[in-house]
Amino acid sequence: MRASGVLVGLLASTAFGLGACGPASAKTLNAVASFTVLADVVKQVGGDHVNVKSLVGPNGDPHEFEPSPDDAKTLKEADITFVSGEGLESWFEKLVTASGYSGKPIVASKGIKTRTMEEDGKTVTDPHVWNSPVSVEVWVANIEKALISVDPDDAAAFKANAAQYTKELRDLHAYAKSVLETEPKDRRKILTSHYAFGYFDREYGVEFLSPVGLSTETEASAADVAKLIDQIKTEKVKTYFFENSNDSRLVDQISKATGAEPGGELYVESLSKADGPAPTYAKMFRYNVDQISKAIAGSSDF
Ligand SMILES: [Zn+2]
Repeated sequence: MRASGVLVGLLASTAFGLGACGPASAKTLNAVASFTVLADVVKQVGGDHVNVKSLVGPNGDPHEFEPSPDDAKTLKEADITFVSGEGLESWFEKLVTASGYSGKPIVASKGIKTRTMEEDGKTVTDPHVWNSPVSVEVWVANIEKALISVDPDDAAAFKANAAQYTKELRDLHAYAKSVLETEPKDRRKILTSHYAFGYFDREYGVEFLSPVGLSTETEASAADVAKLIDQIKTEKVKTYFFENSNDSRLVDQISKATGAEPGGELYVESLSKADGPAPTYAKMFRYNVDQISKAIAGSSDF
């Protein structure tokens, strides 16, 4: 702990050093985020001035969540609360009512150019915005603004952190483009449990096929599964991935019927624990890009 304290001190003096004597930190905010990916981005922007708690834990499903009485207490004590929005956290409103939280949650995805899909005859907005770092830049701007509004004394630090992290997001985007766009388009096809990579597809042209739609709350019918199996065979999809936060039985069954090979596990909407491969958003995104590109490169035996 002592060593990391020294390191933080050094970083701070490098960032603001040489005569710039900023105001002392006024307070440490208690922030709550709905799920781990968003909690990490709040942490990146808030830095030392914010304690962040995630309601859904590591490897948890943000669509379906049963909050505990402790979660209600955590929310009630929050100085500021963040959700991603766009229909992701259908459980959140009930928790607000149960907890007696009187604040208004910040919707981090506000202003993102969202994509929609047809599902069961309805037009549904795709909530999985974070699977493109281009959308996460909007999260960062919204988080920065919201933190400054509740803690203006630390505005300089929030601005510096947001600028630094935005640069990191642009590097991640450039990395994904350089790795994925060199592969032939007709090989960039992957099978996953539910449809969570639409924004990834929009940026990098990787097509994902899934038996379950935008929310894990829906279930695939036998007819859906049969149709998907045909499609996988026709389009020669070679690789399937499990999801860290979802049941893998259906993908397993489809892969057996189609001969698709396992590519490993993708972190679609939940970080891993600290000792896993995806403890932060940046690590999660890079890990997914590497896993997907490896799978595409290995599927050259057409
Ligand atoms: Zn999802």
